[in-house]
Amino acid sequence: MATGETLKGKVAIVTGGASGIGRAIAHAYADQGAKVMVCDIDEEAGEGVAADIVDSGGEARFRHCDVGERLDVRNLICATTDAFDRLDILVNNAGIVAGGDFLTLTEEDFDRVIRVNLKGHFLVGQAAAQQMVRQIEAGGAPGTIINMSSINAVVAIPTQAAYAASKGGVKQLTEAMALSLAPYGIRVNAIGPGTIATPMAGAVNSDAAAQRMVLSRTPLGRIGQPGEIASVAVFLASDAASYMTGETIYVDGGRLALNYLAQRPVKAGEEKKK
Ligand code: NAD
Repeated sequence: MATGETLKGKVAIVTGGASGIGRAIAHAYADQGAKVMVCDIDEEAGEGVAADIVDSGGEARFRHCDVGERLDVRNLICATTDAFDRLDILVNNAGIVAGGDFLTLTEEDFDRVIRVNLKGHFLVGQAAAQQMVRQIEAGGAPGTIINMSSINAVVAIPTQAAYAASKGGVKQLTEAMALSLAPYGIRVNAIGPGTIATPMAGAVNSDAAAQRMVLSRTPLGRIGQPGEIASVAVFLASDAASYMTGETIYVDGGRLALNYLAQRPVKAGEEKKK
């Protein structure tokens, strides 16, 4: 059942919508009245997300699409306009990681990450923008694009060289896209999450030592939830963000503001030590 009307009647594609942050965004958009095309390479989970949205009274479809495959991407745009007549919002969210020591990181792993995280944003972003421009030329309103960057666009993890490079690339791609599409009124922004509780965050979800390490760099003292990224994605897609383009919003519990280590969070009823 829709719980708001912020995106009423809008048509949105969410790539990587079968899991984690993408799934939360797909649900949040549907809750706000959008028609959602969930795209992923995981068909079973993606079909499940679309079915859950429909069961809750929303509108959604699933389309298998590898964001690094140009033909898949073209077919995704066609499937979306066939199903819902238009395209108003793209969330470029699909992403992967491949960790490893820099000295031994393989070319294959480097290529794999760049292909999905950076080239995928380009391919889907360009095809979606072309569709949005066609709609504008036919008298329609401009759409908007949201890319999924990361705090790793500006700070790095030594064992995630390909990922950090891809996310830094997404930040700059966002700015170039925003400038190119501004004459059409198409806004392009990015979100840079900190550590969010999804399958991608892996050990941080279950391993106490990994969690302690992450929290020592997280002033708010907890891991973020996918819904806390989805609410920002709703804002960026909405008219409330009508004068924003070319920006990356970091949603990281304060990590980028932090030099040194985070203090232990003060629990309710506990006085902060002087
Ligand atoms: P996740 O692993 O839960 O979801 C990623 C989804 O992308 C999966 O459903 C996967 O099947 C899909 N996918 C992978 N390759 C694809 C391809 N080639 N084509 C289409 N879909 C593909 O991860 P998540 O944490 O929800 O990550 C979503 C986005 O948020 C990613 O871009 C990630 O880099 C970014 N991010 C996540 C975190 C975090 O801490 N979880 C932090 C910063 C940024």
